[in-house]
Amino acid sequence: MSSTENVFNPDAFEDVPEGALQESPLPERELEVALRPQDLSEFVGQEQVLDNLRIALKAAKGRGDTLDHVLFSGPPGLGKTSLARILARELGTNLHTVTGPGLERPRDLVGVLTQLKRGDVFFIDEIHRIPANVEEYLYTAMEDFRVEVTLDQGPHARVLPLQLECFTMVGATTREGLLTAPFRGRFGLFERLTPYPTEELVRILQRSADLMGIRINAAAAELLGSRSRGTPRIANRFLRRARDLAQVYNEPQVNAKLALEALDRMGIDEHGLEDMDRRILRCLGIHPGTAVGVRTIAASVGETERTIEEVFEPHLLRCGFLQRTSRGRVITAKGCEIIGINPEQDAN
Ligand code: ADP
Repeated sequence: MSSTENVFNPDAFEDVPEGALQESPLPERELEVALRPQDLSEFVGQEQVLDNLRIALKAAKGRGDTLDHVLFSGPPGLGKTSLARILARELGTNLHTVTGPGLERPRDLVGVLTQLKRGDVFFIDEIHRIPANVEEYLYTAMEDFRVEVTLDQGPHARVLPLQLECFTMVGATTREGLLTAPFRGRFGLFERLTPYPTEELVRILQRSADLMGIRINAAAAELLGSRSRGTPRIANRFLRRARDLAQVYNEPQVNAKLALEALDRMGIDEHGLEDMDRRILRCLGIHPGTAVGVRTIAASVGETERTIEEVFEPHLLRCGFLQRTSRGRVITAKGCEIIGINPEQDAN
């Protein structure tokens, strides 16, 4: 791990000297919202996806039609929610957001579906987590803009058909493989977001720094970007931590030394790995060459299977530190190197 020259002084938080970077007036959560790109021109990267969206938007507007349903897939933090918001903005319509786990029964949908105005965007985040009966209920809503509402219960129950306004459903998923084929088939556009190259993350960091009213030099942006696992949300989080240090040390800008110290303090190595990644690799490294099931890994490292599969594994796979086999996960020679074991020796 890299060393840093600045010595951390907690008292400095109490008394930020004049001229230091000022603390952003926005709390962290609000800051993340404020950093979201507002329209397609502000959205960095994902050129092919943006191109397809521009064409679909232009064509729908030209016909005076509503936009076809859109499904975004990709790891967390790549911009799926931002794009859903941008679509509503570009269409000049309202955005209504729900999350998959929040939809337990079909009737949880009725309220929001009946509120939709023509052309509104109905965004379902984590759409792979909606139960099968809710998914089936959505089929007719998506296809015919119609739902059935059951009034009363027992022998007096009546089914009332309701006509909805034409709307655009936008789904976001980190696990496209969990969506059923009939559900996927009901989306007209299916766009996959992929991790960002460092140069795009550098542009995102510079834009975020401008919005936060801070300065970051090129070397620091490159350092933070290259360790962000291709993910804008992570890059922005790193920037906020480096900003904190600059503020406390009364530095006029985030430089490479501060960026490195911030990364060190978060335990982020030069591959963008954090402590949990290394714990996963160490768990697999106990018996290199032997496949380990995700449930066993989860129990061993104290994390949920879902988080391991959705958050940690994709980056470890991309870096070539582990492999997926039909029997489970196996650490690679490169992965063994990271945790300092010799696979030949340890396999015997
Ligand atoms: P997801 O829904 O895929 O988890 P979000 O849309 O919530 O991701 O993005 C997380 C944050 O990352 C946003 O608040 C935004 O600041 C930033 N971000 C994501 N993609 C981009 C992009 N292409 N350009 C600029 N900022 C981005």
